[in-house]
Amino acid sequence: MTIVIEGVTKHFGSFRALNEIHLTIPQGKLVALLGPSGSGKSTLLRVIAGLEHTDQGRIHIDGRDATTLDVRHRNIGFVFQHYALFKHMTIRQNIAFALQIRRVPKTVVRERVKELLGLIQLEGLGDRYPAQLSGGQRQRVALARALAAQPQVLLLDEPFGALDAKVREELRVWLRRLHDEVQMTSIFVTHDQEEAMAVADEIVVMNQGSIEQIGTPAEIYDHPKTPFVMSFVGPVN
Ligand code: ADP
Ligand code: MG
Repeated sequence: MTIVIEGVTKHFGSFRALNEIHLTIPQGKLVALLGPSGSGKSTLLRVIAGLEHTDQGRIHIDGRDATTLDVRHRNIGFVFQHYALFKHMTIRQNIAFALQIRRVPKTVVRERVKELLGLIQLEGLGDRYPAQLSGGQRQRVALARALAAQPQVLLLDEPFGALDAKVREELRVWLRRLHDEVQMTSIFVTHDQEEAMAVADEIVVMNQGSIEQIGTPAEIYDHPKTPFVMSFVGPVN
């Protein structure tokens, strides 16, 4: 699914949170939205998801105008920092949930959950409860749960933000591996330049509701186009 964003502007009252955003997210790529707190990353993600409506501009998903399409019809999976697992359900039940509400037949659910537990390498832990897993393992389950309904787009908003540095680093590797295996169009929000550099095919640097630069990690790092990008992303002297 290619996502094309054309001139999207979004206000909250008189405050302009997104300022004429033009952006193409190519099919199958893992793209990071990188910028400081308040730069509009989550708002852009929510607009793509259909959780917020635009004031101006259009969003095309897979060639279709999705600007006014409801979130339920966009075929999108989410992982948020605070998108907790259901505590009273086992890992297996958590992953199966999205399939059960879609009335997927039981045998298919069982197969798919098994496959997903394999993908996140938690095969033996399906019958545990979230409280019995580490923070990093729980976020791997959150990833598997987001993938369960086979969405065509995966949106991740600071998914590892609450975890410590070592676990975050581990999860970066996980996300990259999962993405390469599933190959779906994914957008990853982070304020951590190192995380964006390590994980993304392409980085979109945001500042005050506008895009400062779009490029591969190497392009952004080696050739920052604005003083902002240079100070935010460039090498630390
Ligand atoms: P980021 O994710 O980059 O930290 P956000 O997209 O969450 O930034 O927010 C961008 C700006 O828009 C911030 O100044 C924030 O306070 C404002 N904002 C976000 N959501 C709302 C809202 N629902 N109502 C009012 N202001 C909002
Ligand atoms: Mg945010």
